[in-house]
Amino acid sequence: MTTGPKVRQFEEEFRTFVGAPNALALNSCTAALHLALVAMNLEPGDEVITTPLTFCATINAIVHAGGVPVLADVDADGNLDPAGVADALSPRTRVVLPVHFAGLPCDMQAIWAIARRHGLRVIEDAAHAMPASFRGVRIGGQSPWGESDAVAFSFYATKCLTTGEGGMLTTPNASVHSRCKSLSLHGISADAWMRYADTRRWFYEVRECGFKCNMSDIQAAIGIHQLHRQIDFCEQRAAIAARYTDAFSRFDDVIVPRSPVDRSHAWHLYVLRLRRENLPEARDAFLNTLHREGVGASVHFIPIPLHPFYSGRFPLAAWPCARAFYESALSLPIYPGMTERQLDVVISTVERAITSVRLPLFAVAGR
Ligand SMILES: *Cc1c(COP(=O)(O)O)cnc(C)c1O
Repeated sequence: MTTGPKVRQFEEEFRTFVGAPNALALNSCTAALHLALVAMNLEPGDEVITTPLTFCATINAIVHAGGVPVLADVDADGNLDPAGVADALSPRTRVVLPVHFAGLPCDMQAIWAIARRHGLRVIEDAAHAMPASFRGVRIGGQSPWGESDAVAFSFYATKCLTTGEGGMLTTPNASVHSRCKSLSLHGISADAWMRYADTRRWFYEVRECGFKCNMSDIQAAIGIHQLHRQIDFCEQRAAIAARYTDAFSRFDDVIVPRSPVDRSHAWHLYVLRLRRENLPEARDAFLNTLHREGVGASVHFIPIPLHPFYSGRFPLAAWPCARAFYESALSLPIYPGMTERQLDVVISTVERAITSVRLPLFAVAGR
């Protein structure tokens, strides 16, 4: 029922799928980020540069690991902008933590170059990036273009591969892998079991004050089957994204997501942006129109500094692009198994919303 042969099989198959030397299955992506950051041995005051356009788990993990989150701005794709990372550097910077927003890989070559130049560690939040690739190499896999210290995946219910709740950490570094494995089970050392396997089967040693975030065989059994269907799932999401882009790119006042040729997109989210004067009100009206018509659209993400807990608490670089992105963005339904009819309904509803939300704007302009 708990961590056993299914977890080992899932780790092995996942590791092979992405091309990573080591994989560790955990009970969430939050845990994977947390343990990876703990394994970087942050000292009080050490800074971790990341994006404001992310789920709070990214930032909470940094705080729990003893780091100070420093938010650099995003680019037009909603991804951490390498130029923003360079501006946010300080003598206390230790880690860069990019998030592959919506499933589009960040410009990892530029981020790795900054990290190499300044001796920084890199941890990727790949909660959206299963399966995505940068320059032909899957996120999490060993790449000739550079190397991250750890990559964290999410198997939460809404993510591309789900185990209900769950996560995976991949790392090229065998000692990061074994440290995180021990930290995921109370800081208990696995080698003690092996050392005394013949004579003292009951023996174990606690080496440090760890946590409890191992994956169960029940979750892994689901994950193995989800993994086998990843290529198919991703092709279905990509086909939906292509239909959306086809339909909406003819409108001047919406911006469709990019898919640069050097990256493959996981299409966890399809984020449409409105090009309007009166944002975010026009976006909110747009979303209300979709909801009234029964289309389940959402917003990703409320920038971190806008949450009461974070506002004013940490050194924050300027993030005008993240704010503009947030105020104009809406996420459309995208999932394998979406029918032609459902897709047609979403497309025609969005097209109608584009024209109807446009009207009050003209009325205001003519007043
Ligand atoms: C979902 C998500 C997480 C957290 O994943 P869990 O598996 O629920 O812990 C972290 N970062 C991002 C960007 C996410 O979307």
